[in-house]
Amino acid sequence: MKICNKCHIAKSYAKFSVNNDAKDHYHYFCKECTRSYTRDYYQKNKDKIIKSNREWQQRNFKYMQEYQKIYREKHKEYFTQYQKIYRKKSNNRIRYKSILK
Ligand SMILES: [Zn+2]
Repeated sequence: MKICNKCHIAKSYAKFSVNNDAKDHYHYFCKECTRSYTRDYYQKNKDKIIKSNREWQQRNFKYMQEYQKIYREKHKEYFTQYQKIYRKKSNNRIRYKSILK
């Protein structure tokens, strides 16, 4: 059991995220408090976060393009399978719609 630094409720370690910088290797706040803190922080700083994310994407556009290319290449099998399943599903949906008409 560990006491959360925010809500001050004792909870099992499973309710805390892992944090290797902490003495006991668990986060100071429970998962629930971390989630609500993150949500609040995002709401308060929404514009700043969106702006900085956009700037990061623009700065790292080439890197991300390259990364995605490598990622797709590495997981080629998965994407091929995914596309096959997706195509099958959407074909069925189109067929189903045409039957309905
Ligand atoms: Zn808490």
